Amino acid sequence: MFKKILIANRGEIACRVIRAAKELGIKTVAIHSEADKESMHVTMADESVCVGPASASESYLNIPSIISAAEITGADAIHPGYGFLAENTYFAEVCESCGITFIGPKRSSIEKMGDKIAARQLMIKSKVPVVPGSDGPISADDPNIYKLAEKIGYPIIIKATAGGGGKGMRVVVSQEALKNSIIMAQTEAKANFGNPDVYMEKYIEEPHHIEFQILGDSKGKVVYLPERDCSIQRRHQKLVEESPSPFISESLRKKMGKAAQSAAEAVGYITVGTVEFLVDKNMDFYFMEMNTRIQVEHPVTEIVTGIDLVKEQIRLAAGERLSFDSSAIKIKNHAIECRINAEDPDKDFIPSPGKIGKLYLPGGPGIRVDTHVYSGYTIPPFYDSLIAKIIAYAPTREETISKMSRALKEVIIEGIKNTASLHAKIMNNEYFHEGNICTDFLPKYVFNNRNSEE
Ligand code: ADP
Repeated sequence: MFKKILIANRGEIACRVIRAAKELGIKTVAIHSEADKESMHVTMADESVCVGPASASESYLNIPSIISAAEITGADAIHPGYGFLAENTYFAEVCESCGITFIGPKRSSIEKMGDKIAARQLMIKSKVPVVPGSDGPISADDPNIYKLAEKIGYPIIIKATAGGGGKGMRVVVSQEALKNSIIMAQTEAKANFGNPDVYMEKYIEEPHHIEFQILGDSKGKVVYLPERDCSIQRRHQKLVEESPSPFISESLRKKMGKAAQSAAEAVGYITVGTVEFLVDKNMDFYFMEMNTRIQVEHPVTEIVTGIDLVKEQIRLAAGERLSFDSSAIKIKNHAIECRINAEDPDKDFIPSPGKIGKLYLPGGPGIRVDTHVYSGYTIPPFYDSLIAKIIAYAPTREETISKMSRALKEVIIEGIKNTASLHAKIMNNEYFHEGNICTDFLPKYVFNNRNSEE
């Protein structure tokens, strides 16, 4: 087992990893930018190193500085959290060449799943269903582009090969908008990912976003855990996640879980990862992508399975074997997570950084809160806007919703705008109660087709 882990991240996930390491008896090193020296993760870790100025490119993405911090402090492993360097193959390679374990999958797995077109091809080979789409990158100059779109069938969606965070996507409903949309998606992809390649997929209407947590060990064993339903989204980014899904039957769970397992096996996956699918109204499911890291929404799975995913991730990276099978996992509870972001939901989710005054986060039976913020803390404008995850759990979905509603009423966050009031509306929504959710839920049922959501 590792002796000292450096956490190459900030915010709630850095705190989450530090907690897991401490429970495993492992020393921890926090890194931070100049803007983050008052951050909770810095206080919680055994040691801390400032790795650069506020801008992420000079601090949390500064590979030489992070590796030096690990070497100076004698860390034998680095946990990348999510975002920043978590899916950066070069970083994984540098860690390896410096004799430091990267707590994540092999470089080759990240590489194979990082390019969405390559991942699609690999899934087709592995007999995992994918959304019908183009075989490779598309171009607005291709004389066959209209034929291809017609063959797939409108509406279609144009997506960035290197995509992430819902960026670089365009839905196209008819051929008039096709060429312009391709060009706009390419421009957005280049600006966000440095790679302008885009491809085309059938746009699945009113789908559920269903994903499976998988775990793999170095002996090639892969298991899957019960699904998470992440259909409540804003601009293709998750806002509420729950497990189990109100939409998935036991037999579909098994079928999709096995497909997720095959996807992970196809890339020789080690540690924890997530295979994402879309499920349409006919219960047909399609592979969308694999995230080769721990995800924001992992706590709902921890609650329904009783497995500490971050501790498992660390153990698996240290070479330990998986000690259970998918069939042994029993769903223990229902769990719902609400992401509290420092954003103004009434102003198109514009970020709302600044100093937090009075702060009260909920508690009591059936509530878990993962956060890094405290009263008097200043949310810097440089990083993502997630400030807390409230997770409610109870034996049934209805009881869980009622616990979450109660918890959201307890929230007091003064000084900044946040998404708690929007979550309260969602928990109150009759369609949500019925489990009648899909990725268009928010614009359709909460904002009543207000355009700003799209
Ligand atoms: P990213 O990597 O940017 O998060 P994903 O491929 O994971 O992108 O998709 C994010 C979200 O975008 C999905 O949850 C869904 O809401 C929407 N989406 C992506 N592909 C499709 C599709 N083919 N049809 C309908 N919605 C889609």
